[in-house]
Amino acid sequence: MADIIQLLPDHVANQIAAGEVVQRPASVVKELLENAIDAGASEIQLIVKDAGRTLIQVVDNGSGMSPVDARLSFERHSTSKIKKAEDLFRLHTKGFRGEALASIAAIAHVELQSRERGEELGTLLKIEGSSVVSQDVVAAAVGTSVSVKNLFFNIPARRNFLKSQAVELRHITDEFHRVVLAHPMIAFTYHHNGNLLFNLKKAEPRQRIVQVFGRKSNEKLVPVTEQTQLADISGFVCKPEYAKKSRGEQFFFVNDRFIKSPFLNHAVLSAFEGLIKPDYHPGYFLFLQVAPESIDINIHPTKTEVKFEDEHSLYAVLRSAVKHSLGQFNVAPVLDFNRDQNLDTPYHYSSKEVQSPSVSVDANFNPFKTDTGRVVSKRAVQNWESLYVGMESQLGMEKETPSHLEVERDAEQTAFFDSEDQQNVITTFQLGLKYIVTSIKSGLLLIHQNRAHQRVLYERLLSQISSREAICQRLLFPLTLNFSPREMLILEQIEDCLIALGFVFGKKDTEQIELEGIPNLMKESEVQPAVDQLIAEYEKGLDPSSFSQGDMVAKTLSKALAVKSGEVLAADSQLSLVNDLFACKELYLSPFNKTIFTTIASSEIDKMLD
Ligand code: ADP
Ligand code: MG
Repeated sequence: MADIIQLLPDHVANQIAAGEVVQRPASVVKELLENAIDAGASEIQLIVKDAGRTLIQVVDNGSGMSPVDARLSFERHSTSKIKKAEDLFRLHTKGFRGEALASIAAIAHVELQSRERGEELGTLLKIEGSSVVSQDVVAAAVGTSVSVKNLFFNIPARRNFLKSQAVELRHITDEFHRVVLAHPMIAFTYHHNGNLLFNLKKAEPRQRIVQVFGRKSNEKLVPVTEQTQLADISGFVCKPEYAKKSRGEQFFFVNDRFIKSPFLNHAVLSAFEGLIKPDYHPGYFLFLQVAPESIDINIHPTKTEVKFEDEHSLYAVLRSAVKHSLGQFNVAPVLDFNRDQNLDTPYHYSSKEVQSPSVSVDANFNPFKTDTGRVVSKRAVQNWESLYVGMESQLGMEKETPSHLEVERDAEQTAFFDSEDQQNVITTFQLGLKYIVTSIKSGLLLIHQNRAHQRVLYERLLSQISSREAICQRLLFPLTLNFSPREMLILEQIEDCLIALGFVFGKKDTEQIELEGIPNLMKESEVQPAVDQLIAEYEKGLDPSSFSQGDMVAKTLSKALAVKSGEVLAADSQLSLVNDLFACKELYLSPFNKTIFTTIASSEIDKMLD
C-alpha cells in the first residue's frame, strides 16, 4: 500500500498557522508593536493605510537585527527569546513563539529594513508569501521597520471577509490603545492614510490615559495601588458616576500585556456593587505585576487570555484593592442603606409632621407641539385610512364595506376617531407611562410612546438632512463640548450631516468644539449626550442595514431625543404625538423595526366580556 501520510509543504503549513495568528489587520499591528517593544525601542511609529488592507508599517528605534537574524526571524519557531525550556517560565518579553513574522510573511508582502546599533549598514529584506524575493545591504536608520502590504493577498476568502474600513480601523485603534496604555514610557505616533491620529509623548501612566482618552478623562480617574505577595496592583478605576451601559474603557494588563479576563472583570464589578446600577459597567485601567512563572499566557494563540496559578486569591485581592480606593477617595457613599432611617433623623425634626415634597409641572409644556395644533391634519387622515386597510388583513377582520372607510362626516378629521364630541377632539390617556391609548372606530389603539416618537423624529431628521433645510437655534453663549482626540476625528467625519441638521460649529481645538447653534429639535442639555451616542454608534461601524451616514445619524438621534418610557406626557403632548405619528410615511415600525402600536378590536372586547 502506498504511503498516505504526507508532510504539508512549508508554505501551506505557514498559511494554516497564519490563520491562527493573523485574524485581521489588527493582529498584525499587535505583533509588530510587541516586537518593537521587545527590541527595547523608545520611539515607535505606526503607519496604516486603508485600515490595514494596503499597508501596516511599524518603525522602531530598538536593537535592530543583523543580516542573519533578519533572515532567520522569518523562519517558523525562530525566536531570540527562548534558548532552553526553562526560559519559557521566566519570560518578560511579549513574543516567544517565534511565529508571528513567519505567519505574516506567509500571507502578505513584507519588507523588513533593519540596522543594529554599532553597524554602519543595514539590511533590506523582501518576502512575498513565505518566499524571499530579495535581500540587500542598504543605508538605514538604527532599529527596524517592518512594512506589511497586501495582507491576505493569497487568501482571497480572508480578504473578502474583512469588515468595513471603519470596523477594521477600530480594531487597529483598540490594539494601539492597549499597547500604548501598557507602555507610557515609550513615545508613539499613529498615522492613518496620511493623517496623524495620535502623537503620544513619553508620559506617566495617568498622563498616558489622558493623552489617549482626552482631558475630560482625568477627573474620572481614582488611583488604585496595592502590594501583596501575590501581585502588585496599580492603575485607576473610573468613578461610579461615569459607569456606562456599554463596556467602554476596561483594561487589564498583566505584566504589561493586555489581557481579557471575565473573572477579574467580575472582581472589579463586585467592588462597585451598590455604587452603580446593575446593568452598568465601570471603566478601569488596572495593571497587575505577577511573577512570570505564576501565569500561563500561552493558552491562546493571540495571547489575550491568561491562566493564573491562584485565581481565587487574586480575585479577592483585586476586589479589596478597588473597594479600598473607592472608599479612600470618598467615592463610595457614606450612608449605609440598610440602616434604620429613623436613626438619621435629627431629633428636633423627629416630631415634625412629614410634608410631601411639592413638584411643579409646566402643564403647558409640549415637546411635540407643531403647527398642526390640536386637530388631526388632513395628511394624518389619509394615513389613517391606509392604516385601517392594513389592519383588516392584519387582524383577519371581516372585510368592511367601502362606506365604512369613506369619510362620512363633514369633519373629515374625525372619521376614524371615536370622538367624544363633535369638536374634532380626540381623547387620549397614558397607560403605565409607556403607552398612549386612544379609541378608534373599530376599538382601542395602543401606541408605544417611545417608538412612536422615534419614528416621528427619525422622519423629520432624515428629511432635514436630505433637504438641508434644518431650523437652527442660535445660542446666546456658545455651547462647549468635550471629546477625546479619537472622538474628534469621528466627529469630523459626520460634521457634514450635523451641519445639515442645524449645528453651527464655532471654534475647535484638539479636544473641544464650540457650537454657536444647535438644531431646534434639541435642548442644550441634550446635545452632548446625543453627540456622544452618535460617535459611539459610528465607532461600532455603520450598521449594514442603514444605507447611509445620514440614516445612521437620524436613527441614533431619534433614539437619543425621543421621549422615553416612564416619562409623563401632558394631554396635548399625547395628542400631538398621535397626530405626528399618523403624518409619518411609515406608521407601523420604529426606525429600529419595532412595532409601534397595536389595536384591540371592539369585537374582541365583546368576546372577552361575553
Ligand atoms: P517572537 O516575537 O515570538 O520571538 P516573532 O516572529 O515575532 O517571534 O519574531 C521573531 C524574532 O525576530 C524575534 O525573536 C526577534 O529576535 C526578531 N525581531 C522581530 N521584530 C523585531 C524588531 N522590531 N526588532 C528587533 N528584532 C526583531
Ligand atoms: Mg513577536
